[in-house]
Amino acid sequence: MNIINSTYIDGHFVTPQGTELFALHNAATGKVTGQVRFGDQHDTRTAIAAAKRAFPGFSKTTRQQRIDWLNALGAAVKARSADLTEAAIQEYGAPVSQSSWIADYAVQAFELAVKTLKDFPFTQQVGSAQVTLEPLGVVGIITPWNANATFICSKLAMVIASGSTCVVKPSELSAHQTQVLVEALHEAGLPQGVFNLVNGRGEVVGAELSAHRDIAKISFTGSTATGKAIARAGVETMKRVTLELGGKSPTVLLEDADLNQALPLVLAVGLGNNGQSCIAGTRILVPRTRLAEFEAGITAAVQGIQSGDPRDPTTAIGPMVSQRQWDRVQSYIRTGIAEGATLLVGGEGRPQGTEGGWFVKPTVFSNAHNDMIIAREEIFGPVLTIIPYDTQDEAIEIANDTDYGLHAYVFGVDPIRTAAVADAILAGRVMINAGPMEPMAPFGGFKQSGLGRENGVFGLQAFLEPKAVMGKVG
Ligand code: NAD
Repeated sequence: MNIINSTYIDGHFVTPQGTELFALHNAATGKVTGQVRFGDQHDTRTAIAAAKRAFPGFSKTTRQQRIDWLNALGAAVKARSADLTEAAIQEYGAPVSQSSWIADYAVQAFELAVKTLKDFPFTQQVGSAQVTLEPLGVVGIITPWNANATFICSKLAMVIASGSTCVVKPSELSAHQTQVLVEALHEAGLPQGVFNLVNGRGEVVGAELSAHRDIAKISFTGSTATGKAIARAGVETMKRVTLELGGKSPTVLLEDADLNQALPLVLAVGLGNNGQSCIAGTRILVPRTRLAEFEAGITAAVQGIQSGDPRDPTTAIGPMVSQRQWDRVQSYIRTGIAEGATLLVGGEGRPQGTEGGWFVKPTVFSNAHNDMIIAREEIFGPVLTIIPYDTQDEAIEIANDTDYGLHAYVFGVDPIRTAAVADAILAGRVMINAGPMEPMAPFGGFKQSGLGRENGVFGLQAFLEPKAVMGKVG
């Protein structure tokens, strides 16, 4: 059994003062694989103090020094890619066929930060004023489990690029992944106190970061409910916040969509990461004239998807991360049936041949309408909801009739129509025919999907504060 007994403060692995031991599980068996010892409020304050001490020196480092550290961090994480991938498979059931993206994205985060930092204008003249973008101070980073290492690296990379320092509170459910990552980051040799990490509960470590007066900003990825709690706690000390929250993203198939090409992509964006993805396209809007054709295609395709052992290379959907998440997905499937949506494929219970782990059947509902619970709430599992529409205007209206606005997908052949629909949808990102993805483009949500943006220059600006100096001497 793997016991994680340390936290990382001021450049050292230290035993936390907190004493709670939290069980870690293998999502594919439901069995306990280890324990992590949680830090408490005292550990969090010690980590914040270390980051505060490190800030004055680190904020004065040169662009080139930060680029060198970012390169060193990327290389150190790359060296542990295989271990990170293994932890992701065990911890939350990432299927081996798709599991390497977590380590790849984690490494890429440092490369993209270098690219952003290289020519970033920290100083500009505005009339008679000289405006400098200054680093914020100590940043609190709080991450979810569904791609914990990726989020830690993308936020940390921008903290380093900006000249700030940080304390990370990773997801409770990702301690193996976190441990591999911290060991890697330690090897990169950052100055002491620039990067600190405290494992622990959200309502203890996360809440302390969100309220502490020495934290200048919280960079958070997670659910909308937690994002609201963080924003509320942070307002007392006027913290800057970047909140990357939940979604209920529309996938709009236009009248002229080529279903042979679109269907595999619709499933990829709907069911990727075992359906546990903030950007999942889970509301599929289909023209009523093509509904029967689409239903037949998606039913056959989903019947052919293997949901089960993540270590089997033919598996496309692995287990849910926890019993709680499994219960939540089952409850939404029951809700969809009770609301009167047509269950096309999947349903309650475990897929045939699986036992023990938190496996679910990929499930598709049709004939839903947009005010059903399964069309409004984020399920965070492999459950898709088809909503028929009659006109393009109605499709846009349904797509925008949501509290969220993180992502959207449009499938069609006519470039003018696809562009017009993409233009009308309220979302931080809209993808036409599923790609290609641009990693330097801003990422973030409209409405209750969040506040602020990550990635590229927009992401770096979010860690900086403009300061204008003007006037003359004599
Ligand atoms: P969650 O909100 O339950 O937890 C996220 C983190 O917040 C965890 O580290 C948790 O310990 C911490 N936390 C909990 N309560 C807290 C509090 N009161 N104060 C401070 N921190 C607290 O989310 P989750 O279940 O880990 O992840 C799934 C959610 O994350 C989904 O809603 C998904 O859409 C969202 N998500 C969003 C993005 C994005 O970029 N927009 C990306 C991935 C996941």
